[in-house]
Amino acid sequence: MIPSISNAQQTTDLLNLYSYSNSIISKLKIKLTTSEFNRVENTCQNCTIGEVSSFDHFLPKDEFPEFSVHPKNLIPSCSKCNGKKSVNWRNGLNSLFLNLYLDNLPDTQYLFVNVDHNLDFTFIIDNRNHIDLDLFSVIESHYIKLDLVNRFLENSNKVVSELSNTINSFKNKLPRAEIIDSVIETESSNRVLYGSNYWQSILKLTLVNNAVFMNNFYT
Ligand SMILES: [Zn+2]
Repeated sequence: MIPSISNAQQTTDLLNLYSYSNSIISKLKIKLTTSEFNRVENTCQNCTIGEVSSFDHFLPKDEFPEFSVHPKNLIPSCSKCNGKKSVNWRNGLNSLFLNLYLDNLPDTQYLFVNVDHNLDFTFIIDNRNHIDLDLFSVIESHYIKLDLVNRFLENSNKVVSELSNTINSFKNKLPRAEIIDSVIETESSNRVLYGSNYWQSILKLTLVNNAVFMNNFYT
């Protein structure tokens, strides 16, 4: 049932009810960011980069005060995503952002990493695996509006170092193929936890499957 509000006072009351520091909202945040493995997932679900520091109102609270404290309208979010999203959420009848509660994210890969011969790389969103066009257009808009491909790149050094450290510490103990297999196995588990298009997994998988990258460790 859609709640209805009849006067300005009710609107004000509903807006006042919402406060990130409000203890009920804080408890909700803990509940929403604790995974089924009881591990606190304090990572922003809009970008999977930053830490959760606020709730993003999927439907802006000024436009929809009746949903200002509705749990399904509160998306745990980092401040960067929250700021970039602001009050935008639709263009006509089309949603501009993925709603993590309502949208069924495809298991199909749509995030890719292009690596050149100097090992410089870029993230791209591509529909080569034929995702439904309406859904793909929301995915594309979500990534563009939140500037995600650039933000992934800015945060990639840490991911590449982590992978390099793993390879360096095992390269004299295990055959190259076994190291690659174990990275693939770890990242498959991470994709179950964080989504099939989790940027860190896509980056690591692309790099271990790149012969130029791997050869660097064996010269
Ligand atoms: Zn974020």
